[in-house]
Parts: sequence; C-alpha cells; structure tokens
Amino acid sequence: MSFRATVVTLYPEMFPGALGLSLAGRGLEAGAWSLETVQIRDFATDRHRTVDDTPAGGGAGMVLRPDILASAIDHAAPEGDTRPRLLMSPRGKPLTQARVRELSAGPGAVIVCGRFEGVDQRVIDTRGLEEVSIGDYILSGGEPAALVLLDAVVRLLPGVMGNDASADEESFENGLLEHPHFTRPQMFEGLSIPEVLTSGNHGKVAQWRREQALRLTEARRPDLLAAEHGKKDGADR
Ligand code: SAH
Repeated sequence: MSFRATVVTLYPEMFPGALGLSLAGRGLEAGAWSLETVQIRDFATDRHRTVDDTPAGGGAGMVLRPDILASAIDHAAPEGDTRPRLLMSPRGKPLTQARVRELSAGPGAVIVCGRFEGVDQRVIDTRGLEEVSIGDYILSGGEPAALVLLDAVVRLLPGVMGNDASADEESFENGLLEHPHFTRPQMFEGLSIPEVLTSGNHGKVAQWRREQALRLTEARRPDLLAAEHGKKDGADR
C-alpha cells in the first residue's frame, strides 16, 4: 500500500495544486502516493451550508463548528483507519525533517485544514488531532501548510525522487545546513569555483563540504548544533 493522503478542507480546489507538477505530480500519477479531499461544507446541515459560527466569549472572526468538522473527519478517517490525524495550526509543534521522515514511512495522513480564527477545541480533543505548524507566522488557511507538509513527505517516498542518495545529504538530515553548491561555467562574473571542488580529490572535497556545512550552521543556526550535542550527550548516558 502506498502513502495515502486525505485532506479535509473548505477549498478542495487547492489540491493537488503545486503537487500535481514535477516530481510529486509524476509520483501521484505513477501511484507512489494518492490524494483525496473531503469538502467540509458537504457536512453542513442547514440550507445555507454554514460551517462556522461566532467565538464563544466574544471577539473577532469566526470558528469552524465542531459538529460539522467532526462529521467530515469521521468520513475521511472511519473507525479502524490507523493514519495519523494532523491539524495544520500555528500553535502546533513545528514540523521537522525527522517528523517528515516518520510520516513518509507510515501509511499516510489525514490532514485537517483550519480557516477563519481556527477550529473548536473539542474537535481537536475528541478526534485526537496532532497540531502541526510550518513556522512562526500566520497563514489565512491550513491548505498551503498542508501542501508544504505533503511536498516534504512525498519526495521521500520510494520511486519519487530520481536519485535517492541525494535525499540523505540535504540540510537537516545530519543536523547541519548543507554546504554551498557550484556548477559550470568555471568562471562567473569574475568568480571561480573553489579549487578543491575541481581537484578530483574526493577526500578533500568531502572534508571541505563538511567544514563549510559546519561554518554555515554555526553562523546561521547555532540551535541545530546545540540540539545535536544534546542528542549525543543523551546517548552517552
Ligand atoms: N487565530 C489563529 C490563527 C488562524 S489562521 C491563531 O492565532 O492561532 C487560520 C488557519 O490557518 C489555522 O486554523 C491553520 O489551519 C492555518 N495556519 C495558519 N498559520 C499556520 C502555520 N504557521 N502553520 C500551520 N497552519 C497554519
């Protein structure tokens, strides 16, 4: 069984969107993964197909109703569906490459996209939704976040990336940012490719790349190095 994604949304037209093109799109066509959408509005119960209501306690905006969203989720993931249920949410745990890897090794995901001010807390609690954030900023809806998450997951699925080895060398995979890249022409606007990269000495190249990666990570993301140290200390104990 290949990776199965079900997106619960008010805007199913946004899918597959960008994921219908390039590597993800070819993978989708080839059956390396599958995608279905569930329109939340189809589970509305009134004539106007209302899905939201004003926040209890007052304040601006609207909140997705728990009864309607729960019906949509139950339809997307009937009893016995073992896929993780994610809610895209700025309050969630920030998405990491490690979580992306875990998800890509599993059966798929049910991904709920919020809109307006968000969703009623009771549906998060009763449906066991894992809140996932893609960063410390606010989107107008969960759909672009779901596309980001799926893009990251899908490229790791068997048969989606042409060169599987390159996935292991990316930024974050070894706790470091990746080294800089260069390609021909040898001279560009007076700048040449670092000599070591054209030396043919694979050992030296590997060493240079590792040094560059370390330097870059120290300068830009010292938090990543600290986290790596934390892991190692933990393993020693
Ligand atoms: N009032 C909320 C924000 C609502 S934004 C708050 O302050 O926390 C509307 C919807 O967009 C959210 O329900 C969520 O599904 C999605 N969203 C917004 N920012 C996001 C982020 N950084 N990561 C993941 N989803 C996000």
